[in-house]
Amino acid sequence: MTLDWTDIQRRTSAGEGVTEPEALAMTRLTDPGEIQKMFAVAGEVRVEHKGNFVNTCGISNAKSGRCAEACSFCSQSAHFSTDAPKYQLKSADMLVAEAKEAVAAGVREFSLVASGRAMTSRSELDTVKSAVARIREETGMQTCASLGLMSKDALAELQSAGLQAVHHNLETARSHHANIVQTHSYDDEVETVRAARELGLYTCCGGIFGMGESWAQRVELAMELRDLDVDSVPLNFLNPRPGTPMADNAELTAADCLKVIALYRLMLPTKDLIVCGGRAVNLGERQDEIFRVGANGVMLGNYLTTAGREVELDLDMLEKEGLVIRPPPHKPHPQSLRPSVRAEGTDANGVA
Ligand code: SF4
Repeated sequence: MTLDWTDIQRRTSAGEGVTEPEALAMTRLTDPGEIQKMFAVAGEVRVEHKGNFVNTCGISNAKSGRCAEACSFCSQSAHFSTDAPKYQLKSADMLVAEAKEAVAAGVREFSLVASGRAMTSRSELDTVKSAVARIREETGMQTCASLGLMSKDALAELQSAGLQAVHHNLETARSHHANIVQTHSYDDEVETVRAARELGLYTCCGGIFGMGESWAQRVELAMELRDLDVDSVPLNFLNPRPGTPMADNAELTAADCLKVIALYRLMLPTKDLIVCGGRAVNLGERQDEIFRVGANGVMLGNYLTTAGREVELDLDMLEKEGLVIRPPPHKPHPQSLRPSVRAEGTDANGVA
């Protein structure tokens, strides 16, 4: 199939994602000139829909390890022998303190991430509600939670406490999911995302690449996300964890990661694409290129069980790429932003 880049640019700039056959043809490109063309179009489409704004996400590993599920990539599963930390849900005070550190570092969307299939008790849910309400009130960041499989009722309770976003990854394509996770189903994952969507929460839902999936399965996942109409797609690149069944899956190159980002921008042109786990280890010196090929967001600070790059280096990267942090959706932030990454027309708190 010959790809008509002029037509693809016109359609994706208008908000229409490329067709599945076009996406599959892109995954088969080998000519360096064609791949560069794909990257350039994806970068231009990102500017078309997102301007020079970038989303900056941060997370708290709010509850770690001892998980009864057995996701093959995850060092927090109790089924594998790993050195991941193990602790119960942190107190609301601890979570708020971490949120304050994150907002001072430049984070504008903050997620509380808990290990486990789901929240296990009323008191856990109450702690998260209290933390969410205080983080929203005391930092002004967009509040997000990633708490495993969630019922619509529990999500609605969190929403009424001030939760604005829900993160829940599908992890991989439907046709590959059973090779990665056997303790819960793909439909279980989809249900949580659907429930969040129905409540009008901002839904952040993506996957992890480099787990033995084919390029066709990477396209399949994007098609599923398109059908679910999620708002944001976190793109994680496997950082193989010792002790997990995926410990030896170092299969991605930096060029593969850039191609995934460009592919997803062209398939999901209007969505937020956030590069999360495994960025430094898989992209190395090429991290600065992620925005040029279509990403409009990045996770700052540490990941769940692995260290991220120094935040100052990431802020340098945004500055060099001419990007500014997206202003918050609601109340002012108490901390000043570096002038160089502050959006035009906003004050020292990043508020328009
Ligand atoms: S990804 Fe979540 S559900 Fe799966 S093993 Fe890790 S903590 Fe448990």
